[in-house]
Amino acid sequence: MNGIGPVYDIAIVGAGAYGTSVLGQISLHLIPKGNGPFRILMVESSQDLGPGMPYSSYMTIPDHIVNIAGGCTQISATYIPFPEKSDFLLWLRSLSPEYRVSLGIDESEIPSWLNKPFPRFVVGLYLSNRFNQFVMALREKGFKVDVRRLTKVTSVLPKNVFGANGYELDLDRKSKAFARNLFVATGHWTYNRFPDFPHWLPSPFPARDIQDRTELGGNVGILGCSLSAIDAALTLSKKNGSFQSMHQDGKSSLKFVPFKGAEGFRMTMYGRKAMLPQVMGVVVNKIFAHKYLTPASFIPIIEANDGFLPLDDFWYLLKREVYDEVPRLRAYLPDSWETVTLEEAVAEMRKLLETTDPVERLSRELEEAKESLKTGIPVLLQNVFYQSYAVFDEVLGYFSAEDRIRFEEIKTELHLLIGPFPVQNAEKILALMNEGYLEVIKIGKNYEVEEAKDRSGITLSWKPDGDTTFEVHHDVMIDATGQKAAFEKDSSPLTTSLRKAKLMKEILVPFRNAKESLNHEDHPNVVTRDGVNYFRPSGALIDINNFSLVPGTEKPSAPIYYMGPFTMGQVAFPQDMSVVTTAAERAVADLIKRGVLERDVTYEVEKDPAPMYGWLGNASGRLHWLSDENYKGVLVKTSFHEQ
Ligand SMILES: Cc1cc2nc3c(=O)[nH]c(=O)nc-3n(C[C@H](O)[C@H](O)[C@H](O)COP(=O)(O)OP(=O)(O)OC[C@H]3O[C@@H](n4cnc5c(N)ncnc54)[C@H](O)[C@@H]3O)c2cc1C
Repeated sequence: MNGIGPVYDIAIVGAGAYGTSVLGQISLHLIPKGNGPFRILMVESSQDLGPGMPYSSYMTIPDHIVNIAGGCTQISATYIPFPEKSDFLLWLRSLSPEYRVSLGIDESEIPSWLNKPFPRFVVGLYLSNRFNQFVMALREKGFKVDVRRLTKVTSVLPKNVFGANGYELDLDRKSKAFARNLFVATGHWTYNRFPDFPHWLPSPFPARDIQDRTELGGNVGILGCSLSAIDAALTLSKKNGSFQSMHQDGKSSLKFVPFKGAEGFRMTMYGRKAMLPQVMGVVVNKIFAHKYLTPASFIPIIEANDGFLPLDDFWYLLKREVYDEVPRLRAYLPDSWETVTLEEAVAEMRKLLETTDPVERLSRELEEAKESLKTGIPVLLQNVFYQSYAVFDEVLGYFSAEDRIRFEEIKTELHLLIGPFPVQNAEKILALMNEGYLEVIKIGKNYEVEEAKDRSGITLSWKPDGDTTFEVHHDVMIDATGQKAAFEKDSSPLTTSLRKAKLMKEILVPFRNAKESLNHEDHPNVVTRDGVNYFRPSGALIDINNFSLVPGTEKPSAPIYYMGPFTMGQVAFPQDMSVVTTAAERAVADLIKRGVLERDVTYEVEKDPAPMYGWLGNASGRLHWLSDENYKGVLVKTSFHEQ
């Protein structure tokens, strides 16, 4: 002992999907380096190892379904050569039929497992199983693994111990440990915008909390219209009634039947644009390889544009990809498809969605998704976008500030396509809407949340057209606007310590030139630093090469590998399970590069023939553009398999 507690080679804070994926990468691909024991510390604040927040049975209810198909669910690697052999499906097959039935899953395997998304808690059980398996495999390879649950890391401080740089960890403010290499895998956090309002619930999770804090038959407002809002509506419905199957004219549908005393139950979802995501048909990894959205197309454009990828060039390539990939869609494309601008196309899509009755749209999309699952043919467009999320993640780092501002405006529409929601949920949401238990209302950007008179609930007011004011009252209102990336608002002791030690910093995206920056000075995300304007998205600056926090100090210690909501400013669709595995793969590849661990040459891995990731220049936002200086970035190839 040395006054700072035990010393570890690697510490992983948080045993959710990312922490588990990191353990998996180390256990599968690496062997300890050096003569002495190689020590790994895993610290988890809850008692569950593996599921983390989204897949925990404590946080969710069985009605909460993931939005990844069984064939795409895998924590051990991003690339799934054969979806029917995804690691999740291998685990599911290994269970006894009786146990599967007890989980509400088919006794014997059926073909729909491949394309079907499963309940969150089932994915959580898979993650727990793999967590234990990875720990066992590590121990067999000679690693010393110390797993501490019900222990919270309350601070991280850079320190030099015995000549080695690393981090001192405070464990529950009671004891300390030192780690030479650190992974922060703490995931989702909740920001309470109105801590003094007793009827304002800052998160839809844990599900039990919102069931306890709402009355039977209550009138509940839900702020948000996407995946978390849908989960919130399902949680509230579970408390207030049940869904029953109906069969009519050879068609089956669901009906919501309220419990006695819950007849007055009502929910309203409010969204800036009030558009529910699309319903998820067949979306399986890698059924096509991109022709246009490839590094070979992007790199020359980036080089010709001083390190930037103009959004218009990206849009042009995306249009060509869509045209070639979805021939069925050509009949619906306008004659001007070649020249239509991104904004025009999105405006058209928005108009169509806004002028279509939401119930009509949902029933149509539900039928299309069911048909897709039956035939195996993806819903028009959905699969191209779903499989292109990694491309969006990669290119985001090359957009200039003015293009990032444009991109923000179209993000909602893109999310509708890239983050669809499962048929099981859509059937319930449709039943609720059909029978008047759920309404979806557009409020625009201009809205206010206040405590109602006599603290009797929450009042929401909004001005859709800038003039008329609408006002509603709810017994309770739930913030379901999704994960937050603004690290300066996260008051947890761990993030506070990272901020204080300057181990994280803001993202500053440069404009292409000073003149252009003047056109956007009034934008809420445009900030001035040292006399230069930048676009500042929420989130911390991440080096996407190895998914680590870029420190605000000159002299960094070992990188702090990070995956979580703070990546949001630099990754277009952060934290999806395959981004989580990509982050783990890149970080662990970096450990090898830095000489911390050695590659286990006995482990063979199937290579992705057309990796979407793997080319990087300014993705960490470190464009050194200053007044009249051009970016001279280098494109670095980083692929796990090349290490
Ligand atoms: C509600 C929700 C639903 C989602 N649904 C999907 C989906 O359907 N499909 C999909 O692909 N992605 C989904 N995601 C994205 C999801 O974030 C990732 O798939 C993944 O679960 C993230 O893993 P993580 O390890 O970063 O975070 P988590 O899984 O949340 O794990 C973080 C862990 O860290 C622990 N922890 C936190 N602070 C500390 C501390 N100070 N000390 C010690 N331990 C700590 C927590 O207890 C937790 O176990 C969802 C996200 C959310 C929030």
